[in-house]
Amino acid sequence: MKKILLSSILLCLCLQATYSQNLNYKRIIINAPSHDVIHTLSDLGMDLTCGAVINSQGLQLELSKDELKRVKNKGIAYNVLIDDLTKYYADRATKNLPNAIQELEAQKTSLHAKAGFGKTSVSNILFDNIGQYNGCDEINWPTPTNFKLGSMGGCFTVSETLAELDLMRSLYPNIISVKTNASPTNQTTLEGRTTYYVRISDNPDIDEANEPETLYTGMTHSREVSSLMNLMYYMWYILENYGSDPAITSLVNNQELYFIPIVNSDGLAYNEAVAPNGGGLQRKNRRDTGACSTYTDGIDLNRNFGYYWGNGGSSTSGCSETYRGTTYFSEPESQIVRDFFLDHDFKLVLNHHSFKNAMLHGYAGVDPATLDAAGVDRREDEFAKYNHDMTHFNRYAYGPSTQISALNSGNMNDWMMGPAVAGSTGGPGAGKDTMAWTPENGGGSEAASSSGFWPNPLLIDDIARRAMRANFLAAYFSGKYAKIIDLSSSNVTDLSGNFNFGIEYLGQTDSDFTLTVTPISSNITSLTSPSVQSGMVTLEQRNVSAPFTLNASIQPNDAIEFKVALSNDDGILYEANIIKYYTPTILFEDDEETNGISNWTASGGSWGTTSDAFSGTLAITDSPAGPYNNNESKT
Ligand SMILES: [Zn+2]
Repeated sequence: MKKILLSSILLCLCLQATYSQNLNYKRIIINAPSHDVIHTLSDLGMDLTCGAVINSQGLQLELSKDELKRVKNKGIAYNVLIDDLTKYYADRATKNLPNAIQELEAQKTSLHAKAGFGKTSVSNILFDNIGQYNGCDEINWPTPTNFKLGSMGGCFTVSETLAELDLMRSLYPNIISVKTNASPTNQTTLEGRTTYYVRISDNPDIDEANEPETLYTGMTHSREVSSLMNLMYYMWYILENYGSDPAITSLVNNQELYFIPIVNSDGLAYNEAVAPNGGGLQRKNRRDTGACSTYTDGIDLNRNFGYYWGNGGSSTSGCSETYRGTTYFSEPESQIVRDFFLDHDFKLVLNHHSFKNAMLHGYAGVDPATLDAAGVDRREDEFAKYNHDMTHFNRYAYGPSTQISALNSGNMNDWMMGPAVAGSTGGPGAGKDTMAWTPENGGGSEAASSSGFWPNPLLIDDIARRAMRANFLAAYFSGKYAKIIDLSSSNVTDLSGNFNFGIEYLGQTDSDFTLTVTPISSNITSLTSPSVQSGMVTLEQRNVSAPFTLNASIQPNDAIEFKVALSNDDGILYEANIIKYYTPTILFEDDEETNGISNWTASGGSWGTTSDAFSGTLAITDSPAGPYNNNESKT
């Protein structure tokens, strides 16, 4: 016992000593980098996806001593913004963590804003879903009661994360599985850790064959705090709102959401060991790849996947942050994700990273023209629509990595999307045609100074909220999801006509869609629902009509109220009451040319008609005999 204690103390001291001698990460800025400079940086093995920030000052990077040496050797000029990044992160976290915990508790009482789908016409939402929301500001997501910050600069350690998964299961055993080994062959990480997944669904311990599946992963790069913390926030939010929020209840009942919160648990454990207060900068796994300085051993798991592995934007140098390994899928951590993925049929995947404020999607490791020539469908239309909706409020830049940053081959997204036929480098893709993203969770450009791999703890929940829309929509889009669009004016001018709606099918799982319209106000004498819509293809919008007749006694400005409900095969997606107003174009009419003033009740003068008309032959006047005398009083 003593021996074990002593050796673990020694190990600890040793790690701390290594750490203090190698405070070797700096935040630097390269002013106005040219395209050539960016390409050179990429060729040097710098990661330009997760930690690169481009702002008005230039390109900001967080680099190790080794990397800086390479930048210097190429004659690229830079300024150092933060000399000792680990210390900076740890000091900031230590200073702000107590306040952040306090603020988080205070936020747990905030209110939930309601969604709407037509600013003028929706009077009451009966069954809401966030995809329909079209307010000016993002929904004010109430902080889940159980969401909390971790001990490591606000981030959970490996053991704290696993304890959270256990707590979720103990509080919500009917909708979240026991944490389970993600490897179908019980493979472990290099250092022998189990990679866990959980499933959120009804019947959570069973994989129900017909339920659409969505996958979320985090901590592939083990210093990217928000890639884990946003998932914990989202998971608690779903669990706590199941049963009270009908859309979340339906989502959980009819779909399966899978989470691998920590892909690279060895890397995270290492960061905990060397920088227990946060600020550890181990990104890769813990493979010994040579005489590297602290944090720079290892293989970049997000460059170790098969499809177009080694095609560019990854390094052959063992100490580089983007070292891809000697062959694809050389690492147990990437093998575990591969095998888990192949065991399922995920429709959409969000492989979370941080902190570039971007929504990157495959393909990122190969020139689009090469894929087009090979007949690979890059699904850009679907990505464009989904990205637009997912980033509507957080304003993340979006697109394929090749456009947003630089080529980075061997990444998870490309392999998950890729066909089962190998390209010019690497191996085949998964052959599942799954749409996959890398959300780069950040605090937004306005909070750049508080952001970073280890964001200010005060910002961790904000960053998590910024990911909520993308997380929810990934689930909706995986399933039988459609949106309803009200295409009719709020003014109804005729006693009969059509209420027109658009049904926009945005899901990846086939379904019929039914729009049911039901009268509420008694001035509607008939209202017919459109027919069931079948065979819709993703992104298709069909316009449908609901013919109506109004009671002839309806008065101008009377409210016409009815209910709309959009359903898929599983049940309601959205339901709301709609109010229109009867505003006939002609309120009343009378022809004085024929009738004179016989239809009018005259008072206060001698009303009649005159031939002095603006148009036609007669006009109505209160002095038919001619002009008044001067200075005459009339009432
Ligand atoms: Zn990353």
